Parts: sequence; structure tokens; C-alpha cells
Amino acid sequence: METPGPPELGKERFDGNMCISVARPIPSSWIGAFCFTGVERGNSGGRVQTENRAMTLQDKFGRQITDLRISITDRCNFRCVYCRSADPENYRDHDEILSWPELDRLARIFLGLGIRKIRITGGEPLVRAGVEDYIARLHALGVEDLSMTTNGHLLAERCERLMQAGLRRINISLDSLDPGRFERITRTKSFGTVMHGIDVAQKSRLAPAKVNAVLVRGLNDDEVESFAEFARERGVIMRFIEFMPLDADRTWTRNLVVPAAEVHERIHARWPLVQIPHERSETARKYRFADGAPGEIGLIAPVTQPFCGHCSRIRLTADGKLRTCLFSKDDHDLRGLLREGATDEDVVSFVRSVVDEKEEGHRINAPDFVPPSRTMVFIGG
Ligand code: SAM
Repeated sequence: METPGPPELGKERFDGNMCISVARPIPSSWIGAFCFTGVERGNSGGRVQTENRAMTLQDKFGRQITDLRISITDRCNFRCVYCRSADPENYRDHDEILSWPELDRLARIFLGLGIRKIRITGGEPLVRAGVEDYIARLHALGVEDLSMTTNGHLLAERCERLMQAGLRRINISLDSLDPGRFERITRTKSFGTVMHGIDVAQKSRLAPAKVNAVLVRGLNDDEVESFAEFARERGVIMRFIEFMPLDADRTWTRNLVVPAAEVHERIHARWPLVQIPHERSETARKYRFADGAPGEIGLIAPVTQPFCGHCSRIRLTADGKLRTCLFSKDDHDLRGLLREGATDEDVVSFVRSVVDEKEEGHRINAPDFVPPSRTMVFIGG
């Protein structure tokens, strides 16, 4: 029986469930100074090579930061029980949210620092007017891998425009295949529209869509096999995410987490799975069906098999805070810096110093773990 193996070893040691990176710090002289030479790529000629080496963002553990998740809004048209509270809205005022010109400027600076993957998220990114234009501008800047995470409610009507703008990949959240349960989890009546959104994405160049289900014990963990069947029938990449302590109502307990190993075991018993190689920094362990059926399974196990040792991600919240980990205790105020009139060079030094201090790991499994004060909808998943 295959288990969804731990993150690639090598530079990691496992102490119980904790993943402790022992990667060697890189000498700061490797990093060099930042140069504003655009996003020129290639390795012919010494000048470009030198610039490329300078255009990287690395932390003190030697992890290269290439992925940026940008939350463009803290607003959402869903109230998923594992994410948001049923309480009244507590959104930031509009002027607290980064404007499009501020987001454009930051994207340009981050690309200059070697970011090559950008995921647009929220809140619900499709509720903010202008998202297609922003994607088009990111595309024009040369982002290699441009993706979005959405709840799918507005996707069917926007899919074509998103693709035209340059979106390359899409993740759609779907936590139940049962319409009544979907309504209870999301506190909406949107099951039909989300399923339609998935169909439209599957018929587009965004296929195969990644469909994300957060499994919560007793809520939807009886649907593992149905989701796997859904992957086989629709040809989607069905990803199971372990419930993390990022919910607004603070209901998370370890007992509510459905370990990825259990999900693997259950699907593998019914439809044998074959592991697919993955990039070290990828969050998901990926599998195809041994019988050649379409679709894929992805297992994301931040709680039971943390993958911090190869983390290449940082996050920008809708109100302009830079976060180096989902579970960071602190975030770092880029918005304030921009609005005080900082130069690009000031922003670069700030980002470099924040990234340098990126946490070694998330510590969910440490006895003294304290959930971050900001929840997923504010951080951007
Ligand atoms: N509104 C979009 C959506 O629904 O996909 C994007 C934002 S949402 C915060 C991003 C992802 O975070 C979703 O896949 C969601 O299921 C996941 N998420 C939210 N709260 C979570 C939690 N407590 N544990 C694990 N994943 C969570």
C-alpha cells in the first residue's frame, strides 16, 4: 500500500509530526543587490546570469521564494463554516485595501525579485471589479504561472474573460457533492452555479481544473470516495486539504483533521493510485489512477505532513500586509510603506529583510502553538 509519502527528504528531518528544516543558510554574498532590469530571462552571456542571480529572494534557510499569493479582497460571497463566522460582515474599509495601482507596483517589484508564480485569491477574488484587467496587466508583466483560487460562484460567466486576460490555471473550492450539505457548509444556495462553473472551466483551456475540498471529520469525510469518483468522471484534479486552525469560529481541533494518509488509503483501496513526481515546493502530493481513468488526486497535508522545508511561498493580504507563512504571528506593513512615499528600493529592502526572517516551519504541531489572529479569509488561501 502506498502512503502519500512525506515531503521530499534530503534537507528535512522529521521529529514526530513536526517538519524541521535543517537546510544550510546561504551566504548573503550570494544574493547580491537588487537590480531594476525588468524580468529579462535566459542564461546566455555573463551579464544576464549575474542579473538573474541578483533577482532572487531567499530566506536565511536558503529557501528560494518564487511564489506569491495575492489576496485582492477580504470580501467573500460565501461563509464556509471552516473559514468564516456566521457573524455580520467585518470587512476592511475600501481605502484600507490596496488599490489597483498599488497592486500593480508591488507586482512589478516582486517580479523583479524573482517571483514567477502568482496566485490571485481572497476573500473571493471574483467579487472585486477589475480583476480581469489586473490579470491582463500581470500577464503583460511576464508572470510565468498565473492562477486563481475561487469558490466558483461567478466563474461560468467570467471564465472566458479570465482566460483572455492571461489566466492559466484555476482552483475551485467544492466541499460537498451533496447540494444540501454544500448549502450548509457554504451557507449559500450556490451548488448548481459552482458545478456549472466547474463544467465551464473543464471545457476551457483552463482544464484540468483543480477542485479543492477541505475535509472536516464528521462534516464531509464520508465523501472521499465520491470526490474520487467525481475526479474520474469529470477529469478534474481533485485535491483534499487538511483542515487548518485558521477558521474564524476557532472550532479547529486535531480530532477534526482527516489525515491525508487516510484519504490515500481509502481511495487506493477502491481505485489503486500511482504517485506522480512533483516539484519539491509543491503543496500537494499527486496521484493518477492506475487503471488509466482520467482525473488526478492531490493530497495537501499541512497538519500531518508539513512541507515547510521546501516552502517557496509568501503572501500579500488585501490590506497590504506581507506574510511569510500562513501561520505567521506577525505581518509586515507594505501598504504603510507605499503610502508614506517609499521608493522601489525602500520596498525591496523591506521585502528582503522580511523574507530573510521567514519562519522555519508553521509549528501547528508544537505544544505552544497559537493560531494566528487573522483567519484564512483575511490572509488569502
Ligand atoms: N474564495 C476563494 C475560495 O473559496 O476558494 C479563495 C479564498 S479561500 C480562503 C482559499 C482556500 O482556502 C479555499 O480552498 C478554502 O477551502 C481554503 N480554506 C479556508 N479555510 C480553511 C481552513 N481552515 N483550513 C484549510 N483550508 C481552508
